[in-house]
Amino acid sequence: MAKDYYSVLGVPKSASKEEIKKAFHKLAHKYHPDKKGGDAEKFKEASEAYSVLSDDKKRAEYDSYGQTFGGNGAGGFGGFNGAQGFDFSQFQEAFGGMGFDFGDIFGGGGRQARRGRDISIDLQLSFKESIFGAARVVLLQKVSECEVCHGSGAKPGSKLNTCTTCGGAGKVHQTVNSFFGAVTTVQPCATCRSTGKVPEEKCTTCHGEGVRRKQEEISINVPAGIENGEMIRMTGAGEAVAGGVAGDLYIKVHVAADKRFIKDGVNLITDLSVKLTDALLGKKYSVPTLDGDEKIDVPAGVEHGQMIVIKGKGVPHGRGGKRGDLYVRVSIILPKKLSKEAMGLIEKLKDEGV
Ligand SMILES: [Zn+2]
Ligand SMILES: [Zn+2]
Repeated sequence: MAKDYYSVLGVPKSASKEEIKKAFHKLAHKYHPDKKGGDAEKFKEASEAYSVLSDDKKRAEYDSYGQTFGGNGAGGFGGFNGAQGFDFSQFQEAFGGMGFDFGDIFGGGGRQARRGRDISIDLQLSFKESIFGAARVVLLQKVSECEVCHGSGAKPGSKLNTCTTCGGAGKVHQTVNSFFGAVTTVQPCATCRSTGKVPEEKCTTCHGEGVRRKQEEISINVPAGIENGEMIRMTGAGEAVAGGVAGDLYIKVHVAADKRFIKDGVNLITDLSVKLTDALLGKKYSVPTLDGDEKIDVPAGVEHGQMIVIKGKGVPHGRGGKRGDLYVRVSIILPKKLSKEAMGLIEKLKDEGV
């Protein structure tokens, strides 16, 4: 497939990245299959050219060899069938919200072929931790990069021999059926992971795999104000894969309820039971806050359901340590049974017009 990517985009060989991007934008707008007068073939051609020329490494390979070999151990430019080795992100970046659905066009959602598995875990938090945030360390059993050979698979200090699979070229020829018909492509050599060399002695820790299943400590920073059921995503903290990129770690947060508090946006509400006589005469009461108990004045004549505000004892929000408020909701407790004496006193109150 000796296509001239430069002439496809109509730019000179010396074109800058910006010029290449502009040229592709123009063509993509013109040929987009969803448009009237669009041309799917031309669009794919332009997309292919752009995916190579916009990538420094692929462009350099193309300039030298008229071919690219892929950077992720996958199909290089094997084709858009299943989008192997196709860097979807650069398209999203180039389009910047033009609203095109590349997943549909290329039929593969643009996944990179060599990507480690995503992992999802559950994380239990106390109510207080959900309000203030928390730092947690979890122990995960997962495939990670080998810490001895750092992914190379070679025993440290081992002699390197020429790979017999690819004869040291780091790549092998392969014919694949792609979107563009049957094409012979150059694939990265799986034996030596494109390095052209095979270590004489394999790393004994990972048996030459470069990755291994092991326990790893992961530090999780839970942001302040997180809600029950929210998901935290840690890019690259999933499983590693030899010669590829690691998957992501998804952390689903479960917040234990605290009977004392109800969260209402950045504010908290707590209920306070006040005796009838205290409501009539006023009294100091101790109320719980997330920062410890606090004394408040319940004023004489306070009403049932009235809110007493404690400033700055709510949920942190924004920058600079700002916090919402704590609302103390007053419930006046009426006595269920009255002694004879109490009854007499209340009769007196009644005569007073209370
Ligand atoms: Zn190793
Ligand atoms: Zn090889």
